[in-house]
Amino acid sequence: MLKSPSETLTLSKIYDIPPEDILFLDFSLVGVKLNFFYPRVRFEFIPENKSYFKTSFQRAIKKYFFALPTNSTSNYYIKDRYLMRGNERFGRIKNLANDTCDTSYPRRNGTVLNLNPVPKSSCHGCQFCHTLLQGANDRQEDLRSVSGVKNFIEKWLRKNKVLDLSHLIQVAVVTGCFGGEEKVIEYLQKLDNILSKYSFDGELFYYGSEITTKESFDRLKKIKHFAVCLSLECFENREKLVRDIKAKITIDKAKEILKIAKESGFRTNFSYILGLESIEIIEKRFKELFPYINSFPVINIFQVHRSQEKLRYSEAWKLDYYMKVRKIIEDLFKNTEMRPRVWENYRSLWYLNFAGEELTDIRTP
Ligand code: SF4
Repeated sequence: MLKSPSETLTLSKIYDIPPEDILFLDFSLVGVKLNFFYPRVRFEFIPENKSYFKTSFQRAIKKYFFALPTNSTSNYYIKDRYLMRGNERFGRIKNLANDTCDTSYPRRNGTVLNLNPVPKSSCHGCQFCHTLLQGANDRQEDLRSVSGVKNFIEKWLRKNKVLDLSHLIQVAVVTGCFGGEEKVIEYLQKLDNILSKYSFDGELFYYGSEITTKESFDRLKKIKHFAVCLSLECFENREKLVRDIKAKITIDKAKEILKIAKESGFRTNFSYILGLESIEIIEKRFKELFPYINSFPVINIFQVHRSQEKLRYSEAWKLDYYMKVRKIIEDLFKNTEMRPRVWENYRSLWYLNFAGEELTDIRTP
């Protein structure tokens, strides 16, 4: 990874991308050293060191949000509420917290609401997943029953001092595993019904891999704005890397599901964890899946937590791997309108630019 912070500037010139996109990638790859034990931390980051954040200052981007693994061997550390490496200060840290598994959380300055109706802390089986290590802050709140969801919304409205949900552009349902297609469909229908009573008119976004049939997607057409992200995560060794239910989805099956979802008129994409397999496989499979989506995939950098080191693909220990993948994916998508959304992903391959084009939008929760 970065040999020194100043290498950010050299690589930025070589690859012609903002230094931020390189430095933030390195944060994800290396993690941060802490004096206390949290497996992951989240925090707001206010850039200060102008040599690395020229583009942020030019574009008046004052704040970022990160969720990073802690790593006792990382060069990045937090001191006196500053993110540092060696003697260099990058910027200020605000609201540093243990990155627990939560039942709900906002994104995009509170205009997107994520719901995890199934506790992620009790969902295990994907080798690259970090929920096993995270604190479980998602076992108390009931987001599965109608009364539970209503109670949650009432509390949320009071807390955010708003009268209804008309300001939300998206409610995302991120399921670990729901326990069957029928249960997910019923839940989404129930949720849609409740949300519309609170004047929600945004997108209901399902992130999971349990909806697979045309019959199910047909039933979801009644939802005014529905979107689906098939949680695929990797292309090879799926039976080893992902949990049983997800491993049933082969790449051919994934194409079939995405095709049905897209033809149903839904915004459709898939999620992918970058750093587990070779560039050749990534290029081949992204090209194959490209015709079946109409929205940019959610590409998360694989962040290594305790005892997950062996999962990172050998070449993925070098920044060059990520720069090559970045170029391949940019070339594939640059002539489309599909772009990464900066609020959707805090461990992305893109922060400020995509194929030379500026990425804009709200970046903090
Ligand atoms: S489905 Fe896999 S990645 Fe998702 S929460 Fe469960 S174990 Fe983690």
